[in-house]
Amino acid sequence: MTAIAETLPDPQPESPLALLQAVFGYQQFRPGQLEIIEQIVAGRDALVLKPTGGGKSLCYQIPALLRPGLGVVVSPLISLMKDQVDSLRANGVAAVYINSALSREEMIQNFAAMRRGEIKLVYVSPERLLQHEFMDRLAELPLGLFAIDEAHCVSQWGHDFRPEYAALGRLKQWFPQVPVVALTATADEATRSDMLHRLELNDPFIHTASFDRPNIRYSLVEKFKAAEQLLRYVQSQKGNCGIVYCSSRNRVEEVAERLSRHGCKAAPYHAGLPLEQRQQTQDAFLKDDVEIVVATVAFGMGIDKPNVRFVVHYDIPKNIESYYQETGRAGRDGTPAEALLLYDPADIGRVRRLLDNIENPQQLQVEQYKLNVMAAFAEAQTCRRQVLLNYFGEYNDKPCGNCDICLDPPKSYDGTEDAQKALSCVWRVGQAFGVGYVVEVLRGSLNQRIKDHGHDKLSTYGIGKDQSHEYWMSVIRQLIHKGLLTQNITRNLVLQLTEAARPVLRGEVKLELAVPRLQPISSRKEKRNGLLDNANYDKRLFKELRGLRKQIAEDEEVPPYVVFNDATLIEMAEQMPLSAGEMLSVNGVGTRKLERFGKEFMALIRSHADGDDEE
Ligand code: ADP
Ligand code: ZN
Repeated sequence: MTAIAETLPDPQPESPLALLQAVFGYQQFRPGQLEIIEQIVAGRDALVLKPTGGGKSLCYQIPALLRPGLGVVVSPLISLMKDQVDSLRANGVAAVYINSALSREEMIQNFAAMRRGEIKLVYVSPERLLQHEFMDRLAELPLGLFAIDEAHCVSQWGHDFRPEYAALGRLKQWFPQVPVVALTATADEATRSDMLHRLELNDPFIHTASFDRPNIRYSLVEKFKAAEQLLRYVQSQKGNCGIVYCSSRNRVEEVAERLSRHGCKAAPYHAGLPLEQRQQTQDAFLKDDVEIVVATVAFGMGIDKPNVRFVVHYDIPKNIESYYQETGRAGRDGTPAEALLLYDPADIGRVRRLLDNIENPQQLQVEQYKLNVMAAFAEAQTCRRQVLLNYFGEYNDKPCGNCDICLDPPKSYDGTEDAQKALSCVWRVGQAFGVGYVVEVLRGSLNQRIKDHGHDKLSTYGIGKDQSHEYWMSVIRQLIHKGLLTQNITRNLVLQLTEAARPVLRGEVKLELAVPRLQPISSRKEKRNGLLDNANYDKRLFKELRGLRKQIAEDEEVPPYVVFNDATLIEMAEQMPLSAGEMLSVNGVGTRKLERFGKEFMALIRSHADGDDEE
């Protein structure tokens, strides 16, 4: 092995920072990156725990460029390999992948190039890597490092255990001198020690980043007419890409269908759809042709799309881990994104009943506990991010300023009059109707059923017409919550008064209610958090730049973000670079991309600037 290594030329004595700037076009390392890189370059094993979008890839890509020999990257998904390799090549890095999607010729070519020492990074699946044939080939080559992406897959405690991963410990036995770096966004203690143990890492350098994703705004709205609420929200997003998670396959199809009918570029995704259709959807989403994927939890692993601007939970997830992971798919590029949860307290009961199917009592207990924590998150009156990070053991005592609670603190008001209206309406309809009906009577609806019952003659008919349906739903939910009303389960959930309602009806006590939270913050006309919302760029230019990017991406048959990601385009729209030097100072523009795309983008920016002058 050493003989071959000695015949290769020495690598260029470049620094990590020089490579970051010239090849990847970024000005600075993110916290932790440089240290990790230096340790791996020095030959040490490493474990990198960073949240999704934290910038894990550079942590092994730069060392692979700096160390002599070939860097081998283990990646669980074939679809991901191609995108990663395309992105690297767009930056001028010699990278290939070896998997079943290649023709025989391509495979032979790639191996030949690897043997000639022309390749710096090769992506493979764990199954392929551990095949004898592949191992034998590797044994003949000088190796720079092994990188194991999504490394939590080795652990049975992780949520994605893959048996093929478990055997990766052999790497360290066969190639004891080659550093192994394991990377994951899953951090719990059990998975972490299991990973170290199974991969047989040798005195690894361990980096644990904060799991905070400051650019993601967490928000929650009360769920009433979910379909309408979603449509309004999606329309307010104007062509941004997003994911909508639903709890069942039927619901996925319904919601996707409805969005499409209203002119949204939406598509469904769940495990019951044919593989081909699923791949098409995923592909179209990566290319921005489909803007909204409506999906079950089956969608997501391997979706490395950096410009997902929003993730909506149409139904409450079963636990915080899933919520964090799913919302984490928003805003990988670091620019503002939103995670919106539509919350109906009744959904908790529904999920709880589903859990009853779990037979193992211990597991049932764990799942119930996790659901309770999720419910507590939804009910929280304190900063959502604090609740989330505390759950992951990252204590933080400052409210974040970028969640619905921080931006719009819960307010209470003297709800005595509202309560009296609602309670007396329940009384007048004979305590024989459900929430929806009572609200219709309060709002004076012209509904036939109300007329048939003669309820349009009641004194409470229409006394609440100055408030929306959602408003009254929220008031009644709160009255149930406070024990003034109950829903009779034996009689179709009709509303009935309790003893506690009496003093309120008689005006003997006052009642505080919470002001209903009915709309996501982003669609309210409130000032947005100035820190993250970069409002200084030219939105029209940004749109044109996106158009150009799409055109180039189509010509080159790569996803748009391989050309430039949104964060880079936003910077261009802000700084309007017109020379090579100015272009290089934009984050995400390295020398190679400048050569390949610089002219076209500068031409567009120039013509845009000229157009402005004429106005
Ligand atoms: P992860 O694998 O941790 O989910 P990625 O490696 O895909 O995250 O990085 C997420 C995004 O952040 C990518 O678009 C990447 O190019 C960008 N990025 C990584 N490091 C930096 C940096 N130092 N400066 C600017 N952008 C960066
Ligand atoms: Zn907050």
